[in-house]
Amino acid sequence: MFDVIVVGAGIVGSLIARKLSSYQLSVAVLEKEPDVGNVVTMANSAIVHSGYDPVPGTLKAKLNVLGNKMMDKLLEELDVEMERIGSLTVALYDEQLPMLEKLAQRSAENGVEVKILNAEETLKLEPHLNPQVKGSLFAPTAGIVNPFTFAVHAMENAVDNGVKLFLNEKVVDIKKENDFYNIVCESGNSYQTKIVINAAGIYSDEIHKMVEPIDYYLTPRKGEYFILDHYSDDLVKHTIFPLPSEKGKGILVTPSIGGTYLIGPSAEAMPSKDDVSTDKPTLDEIRRQALEMVPSIPFNQVIRTFAGTRPTPSTHDFIIGFAKKDNHFINLSGIESPGLVSSPAIAEYVINEFLAKVIELKTNPNFNPYVKKRPNLAKMSFEERKAFIKQNPTYGEIICNCEKISLGEILFEMNTSVPPTTIKAVKKRTRAGFGKCQGGFCQPLVTTLIAKKFNIPLNKVLFQKKDSYVVRYEVKGDAK
Ligand SMILES: Cc1cc2nc3c(=O)[nH]c(=O)nc-3n(C[C@H](O)[C@H](O)[C@H](O)COP(=O)(O)OP(=O)(O)OC[C@H]3O[C@@H](n4cnc5c(N)ncnc54)[C@H](O)[C@@H]3O)c2cc1C
Repeated sequence: MFDVIVVGAGIVGSLIARKLSSYQLSVAVLEKEPDVGNVVTMANSAIVHSGYDPVPGTLKAKLNVLGNKMMDKLLEELDVEMERIGSLTVALYDEQLPMLEKLAQRSAENGVEVKILNAEETLKLEPHLNPQVKGSLFAPTAGIVNPFTFAVHAMENAVDNGVKLFLNEKVVDIKKENDFYNIVCESGNSYQTKIVINAAGIYSDEIHKMVEPIDYYLTPRKGEYFILDHYSDDLVKHTIFPLPSEKGKGILVTPSIGGTYLIGPSAEAMPSKDDVSTDKPTLDEIRRQALEMVPSIPFNQVIRTFAGTRPTPSTHDFIIGFAKKDNHFINLSGIESPGLVSSPAIAEYVINEFLAKVIELKTNPNFNPYVKKRPNLAKMSFEERKAFIKQNPTYGEIICNCEKISLGEILFEMNTSVPPTTIKAVKKRTRAGFGKCQGGFCQPLVTTLIAKKFNIPLNKVLFQKKDSYVVRYEVKGDAK
């Protein structure tokens, strides 16, 4: 019997689990995927939004602004890269200028520092913007973050502090039995807990329906993107937004934390929660809108496209609270953008405003907020790197040539408490496979490393999801 079970290991479930591990509680996390942060958390713009945009008074506004402020300390503890590069929301036409004033007013209500810049000031900051730009809203506290290691390191820290993580466990039924919940998984395993926290992202409505009828719905809203390769010139230094509309924040152009550029996302209501395909008409429209803001985008440098799906709630705000009939089921639904930046504040809110009311929270005196620090060779001088590699020769053996990722970095991850057992999981933690060749060279090496380390036959190594094998047939004897 656990005190608390969290369903879902995206960024929200991972940070809730980490926060729970700072108390004397027995905690488990059930995740249907073979890795943490494998759904919405790994397919988004990765912007640390400043909070100028959400409607004042909403949970989105409150938790975005608070989450943004919590990021520096948290990401230092979790050894996750973030850069506060600032954002510019641009007006391309005179008739859009009053909208900048409105956004500035909204920022003031949300307590967010912004400044309206004229055309000259805007172009001085971003010379590649459309020269017809009329002005912009500058938000210096906006940033970019590594969303992959954010979720992985949060969960690793939770596990290091005592949380039990069960991957490949899809919850299919939840029943209240006397004073506890019995959670049944597709595997046939069942888990008992006093309290359930539902952090199942786009499937949170389905999980909620397992305990009571619900009075909201989630619309899957897909966002497609282009990724541009590392680019020798600075295309843009800030995140560039158009003016927001009822469809959301619009098509942005931004540097990513890995040195590439992201362009997107679209916003298409979809019948399926799982459709993350990309299509030419949508990508063409993204290209058109992005070129209007930044005419020199080198689209010949695109290395891939991808999509993520927002769980857009009918209530237009994050839905966080007790189930109507039972305060031992805490529900989180509709955590769409700005869910990534809000996630640290969401975790605190769930625990302080809800969990603390139903269970005694005693501090865990052994809680250690820090993950094991990763050696960062990119930040070392040539001499430092040389000395480090002399001591640790595996860090001199390059596996991914595009991103310059070494064997040592991959082995480090394989020896953590949430090790990568799929190709995508290695990619998310180390960037091996993220570059121009998209794993063309390193994927066979990574596949072999996973097979060896975890004693999996080569033809059973997964790319990312259940049944996503990459080695199909054994052509030269035993594929081991
Ligand atoms: C296109 C797009 C752009 C975005 N851009 C930004 C941005 O720039 N900044 C920002 O702050 N936010 C952004 N967001 C929002 C942000 O990505 C999400 O709010 C955040 O990742 C949600 O995290 P989560 O943990 O709630 O969901 P998820 O990451 O989806 O995690 C939920 C987990 O629950 C698991 N699960 C589901 N069903 C079950 C089950 N039955 N049993 C067990 N496990 C289950 C899933 O496998 C998944 O791992 C964007 C989102 C999208 C789609």
